[in-house]
Amino acid sequence: MGAPYTGRCNCGAITARIDAEPVWVRQCWCRQCQRAASGSATVNALFPTEAIHITGELKWSGYDAASGNRIEQGFCPSCGTQVMGRNSSRPAACVLRLGFIDMPNDLAPTAAIWLEEAPKWAVIDPALEQWPQQPPPPPSS
Ligand SMILES: [Zn+2]
Ligand SMILES: [Zn+2]
Repeated sequence: MGAPYTGRCNCGAITARIDAEPVWVRQCWCRQCQRAASGSATVNALFPTEAIHITGELKWSGYDAASGNRIEQGFCPSCGTQVMGRNSSRPAACVLRLGFIDMPNDLAPTAAIWLEEAPKWAVIDPALEQWPQQPPPPPSS
């Protein structure tokens, strides 16, 4: 069940087609993600921006991260489904929320990040790579 992937929000106003495999899939337990995801982690798949084709008009809300980067979360203005996120330091790629991507698919997180902000009750799969904060970016070639 690989690319292309499709996605839709709860009300159907936003749909998408993604023509690439994700670079990575991660859980993020930062506080902003906990707010967006009703208390738990967001699960995010990073795709090349050019491979993401969104139909419908997202609403964006942003904040300045500890890194100094601007983070923006895109969601459906009608039903509130979290659709995607983008980072000012990384315009060539965006994350899509895994819940937005249609099933069936074989996408699954391989890492959990920002664990220092996770609630005490959070259960982290020991099979996942674990990071207290943001992992360092891959070395650029
Ligand atoms: Zn919607
Ligand atoms: Zn986060």
